[in-house]
Amino acid sequence: MSQSFSSNRGTSSNNSTLKRFWKKIWSILVPHKIQHFVWRACRDALPTKNNLLRRKVIQEKLCESCKEAPKTVGHVLWSCLKAKEVWECSKLVISWNERVNQSFQDLMWNLLLNEDVGDDQVAQAVTIAWALWHNRNELRYGGEGKSGQHLTRWVADYLIEFRVAVAQNTPGVPVPRQVASWSPNKKAVGVGVVIRNDKGRLEVALCKKIAAPMGATEVEAKAKNACSSQLNF
Ligand SMILES: [Zn+2]
Repeated sequence: MSQSFSSNRGTSSNNSTLKRFWKKIWSILVPHKIQHFVWRACRDALPTKNNLLRRKVIQEKLCESCKEAPKTVGHVLWSCLKAKEVWECSKLVISWNERVNQSFQDLMWNLLLNEDVGDDQVAQAVTIAWALWHNRNELRYGGEGKSGQHLTRWVADYLIEFRVAVAQNTPGVPVPRQVASWSPNKKAVGVGVVIRNDKGRLEVALCKKIAAPMGATEVEAKAKNACSSQLNF
């Protein structure tokens, strides 16, 4: 039977499972700021309306989007109508549908420990949660509410660019529009290929690490080869 975060909290026999849970949070293949966001969300440390009310910063706790439920972390990131729209667009195969009233900790617990979910899907799920949270904040300060389709497409592009950056040994740094990057001081080089359409939307992103040191011209040729085979030129 699957266990939950709440049922494991505070029981010494399950300390190792809890440690495994937190370790997994910090190992998700996303930028550190998103890992930190997930950690805060799991500890219920995000400044949701519910938490601000508890600290007497505000007087009203209902979600301003649906006006139906207290704005808790779980509500903002999962059960609010706006969040549901985004999750549906993501097409992630995660059995969260029956878990409407679960806390965010329990959702993450299931995702990381109880379900057969791949690393890429976990990265996608937490980045969607992060994007949802930030879009909510933008809305509160008069910004634009993004559609589910817009947010999920943005998340997909963001993660591709992050992976290309990681492959180039420069984690978290956006990949510039270039054919290849080359570092003469390393025994391996990371090759990143990013192709965008005329509107700037990412069409293809590839990344590859090449073990032997080689010159810039050879690296560029390798990158073009990788690109051609991907596009069947
Ligand atoms: Zn709501």
